[in-house]
Amino acid sequence: DFGELAEGLGYKAYAVGGFIRDLLLRRSNLDIDIVVEGDGIRFARAFAEKYGVRARCHKKFNTAVLIFPDGLKVDVATARLEYYQYPAALPVVQFGSLKMDLYRRDFTINTLAVALNPEEFGELIDFFGGQKDIKDKAVRVLHNLSFVEDPTRILRAVRFEQRFSFKVGKQTAGLMRNTVKMGLLSKLGGHRLFHELQQILMEEDPLPAIRRMGEFELLAAFHPSLRYDAHMQALFARVKEVISWYELSFLDEPLESWWVYFLVLFSRLSRKELKQVLDRLEIPLSRQERIVWTYNRVDHLLGTFFRLPDPRPSDIYRALQPFRPEELLFLMVQATCEDVRRIVSHYCHRYRHVQTELKGRDLKAMGFPPGPLYSRILNDLLDARLNGQVRSRAEELEFVK
Ligand code: ATP
Repeated sequence: DFGELAEGLGYKAYAVGGFIRDLLLRRSNLDIDIVVEGDGIRFARAFAEKYGVRARCHKKFNTAVLIFPDGLKVDVATARLEYYQYPAALPVVQFGSLKMDLYRRDFTINTLAVALNPEEFGELIDFFGGQKDIKDKAVRVLHNLSFVEDPTRILRAVRFEQRFSFKVGKQTAGLMRNTVKMGLLSKLGGHRLFHELQQILMEEDPLPAIRRMGEFELLAAFHPSLRYDAHMQALFARVKEVISWYELSFLDEPLESWWVYFLVLFSRLSRKELKQVLDRLEIPLSRQERIVWTYNRVDHLLGTFFRLPDPRPSDIYRALQPFRPEELLFLMVQATCEDVRRIVSHYCHRYRHVQTELKGRDLKAMGFPPGPLYSRILNDLLDARLNGQVRSRAEELEFVK
């Protein structure tokens, strides 16, 4: 469909990049990248109109995103067209704009393209040896200045290498080490550094990539005292366990699992070092405060609350209720004793969603004057429910009276 539409507009369209790479690796990928030799935005708009899907256009970059109802996302980019003056002074389109577009990409494995126009549909285009590198399981840059041009590619190299169990090519690894030695990672903007770290932590298993970052001395780009060691390895293994447990137990509750890894990664820094990292990553202040709050609160609970014998369900509820699921999982990872993990698990399964049957309007109907008294009564009532003192609406009414 893309190809026919392109043909109709006098354009050439190609599926490129990660989608083709994953096709060859037989991995599923719901993000399709299309490069159009022509006007990408016009192409996307025409497609959206014809098939009734949504198109979001970014005029500045000549790109668009097509969003299908089933979650499929198609990015459309415009390959730059070059006009050559022939003696007859007619401008012609130089074939090769696709090549130019692909040359700007990070690794050879991401430079494969498949033609979509009807006549050449399905033809694999491989300008830079991407197919061979996929076969050799090698992550290689296209030219020697690639990492200097964009140091985030160093982190991307590690991510792809570990995701596919590939190996960064020897020369590419040398270029990475040189770029790190030149200190170019420290010149990167915080947002980009944060984004790349997030991408790594969003991998199925981020641990190998973190280990590899240690080997390439990339962790120091975040903070000089950040290290990959046996302890970090053990913590990450525990994160994996608690995430699996949570996702299996609460299938339909969304979890930003990468956030648990993030909290663990920086958990051993001093508060001062933590501040330096968070500033380096340009994390907004409100989020920074939440992170510090989480560390403090977890320390506090592990140091005091969880040492008390036999806490009541209502005490557990009050202690854990302020946490988001990701923060609860972080607490489970930090806990060295099994009891704490059991209590958190009880909380998630049994207490977290407990509610009183009576609401404010019932209290009003009972003649209580509206005001702060309501929340005190409802809190006491909730505690009574959690502790099993009341079990029904009738018992709640009795309790309130
Ligand atoms: P993923 O499966 O992680 O989404 P992807 O290959 O689709 O992998 P994206 O980050 O979505 O990766 O990028 C899409 C394409 O854009 C890549 O295939 C890559 O060629 C190119 N690209 C992305 N970031 C860079 C970069 N920093 N430098 C050069 N090319 C890049």
